[in-house]
Amino acid sequence: MNRVYLDFNATTPVEPEVLDAMLPYFSAEFGNAASIHTPGQRARGAVETAREQVAALIGSRPQEIVFTSGGTESDNHAIFGVVNPLVSAPFPKPDKQDEFPPQRHVLSHHKHIITIAVEHEAVLNACQALEKDGVQVTYLSVDRDGRVDPEAIRRAIQTGRSDPKIFSRTALPQTTLITIMHANNELGTVQPLEQIGRIAKEADIYFHTDAVQSVGKIPVDVKALQVDLLSLSGHKLYAPKGIGALYVRGGTRLRQLLYGGHHQRGFRPGTENVAGIVGLGKAAEIARKSLTEDAQRVSALRDKLQQGLLSRVPQSRVNGGDAPRTPNTTNLVFSGIEGEALLIALDLKGLACSTGAACSSGAVEPSHVLTAIGLQPEEARASLRFSLGRHTTPSDIDFALTVVPAAVAQLRELSPTYRKEATAHK
Ligand code: PLP
Repeated sequence: MNRVYLDFNATTPVEPEVLDAMLPYFSAEFGNAASIHTPGQRARGAVETAREQVAALIGSRPQEIVFTSGGTESDNHAIFGVVNPLVSAPFPKPDKQDEFPPQRHVLSHHKHIITIAVEHEAVLNACQALEKDGVQVTYLSVDRDGRVDPEAIRRAIQTGRSDPKIFSRTALPQTTLITIMHANNELGTVQPLEQIGRIAKEADIYFHTDAVQSVGKIPVDVKALQVDLLSLSGHKLYAPKGIGALYVRGGTRLRQLLYGGHHQRGFRPGTENVAGIVGLGKAAEIARKSLTEDAQRVSALRDKLQQGLLSRVPQSRVNGGDAPRTPNTTNLVFSGIEGEALLIALDLKGLACSTGAACSSGAVEPSHVLTAIGLQPEEARASLRFSLGRHTTPSDIDFALTVVPAAVAQLRELSPTYRKEATAHK
């Protein structure tokens, strides 16, 4: 059976060149990168080369890259590493104690995070866990394309300052972290990070971005974006699953999450996954060289798919299509169908796509991203995401353009509610 994969936002295959680079580190070059002997030093050399390759892709310095197990760990490290609910603000200096109210009782309830409603669960659930410890979190809404207004972020910032004339024992919340994703996994929508970075810098607040869906697809430069922390994941850019990285701008005060040896300067102890790290490095190098060309080719195919579906399937429309998007993603509503049923019908015909984030597949709730952009639950349930990859071909798109309209028509034929509505509109 012809099988076409259009679910590259869920995961990508390991690029053959990446696999070739990794293979020696499972056998001949099996040294521990923390060992002093020659095999260990060869592994260390490979890890440091990979650090340079990842740094080059995002415009950072190699020493600002910490290898992790993937996007989820990077997001958690950034958030829990900056916002420690158990640590209070510094006590006032002894000579200032008359001027300021005593702060000894001030703990988590005066810390504040700003994020958006369409983040991945790795960010949302980390923020919700901190909320349980008393941290305040603002989940800003987004527009119909999934974009946040940078001015809404500015307005949400809390300074923690109170009027010194009003003596109050209640500390006001202070924004400690702004965490806004770069590209959305379901829509591809790219957030205006440069503007947000400027706002965060002016207010002197740490700024983290989950760039898992943008790195390797669009240019990412940590200096231009003015981020302090950035998460990326190997398996979204043709490296293996279980490897990722966190960019930590030099000077960022980040608490470690794991305790152990002195690996990666204590930031992330644990014997390094040398083969995975080498794979991520190689994938980053390939992405840096092929990004522009890939983006042009893939976006032309994505546009062909999108236009083709819109013209072949009545009552279909694009979700979030008017904002800047990653070149490989399109998300469409096919009114009157159940996305899960369509997904299964397409899978039986050999086409793999998604109803939303892969991590939430199996959940019956409609996608939180689609409801956040204003879709009714039934419209969200009638939506499908197609995400293309570096190796998607024109014939893959032709195949999708044949099977999707046929499957939608078939499901609609079986749907009594759709048939009734269609008749009413005639
Ligand atoms: N953030 C985003 C935007 C994602 O799309 C994903 C995975 O789908 C993650 C984080 C989690 O990354 P990982 O699978 O490497 O843990």
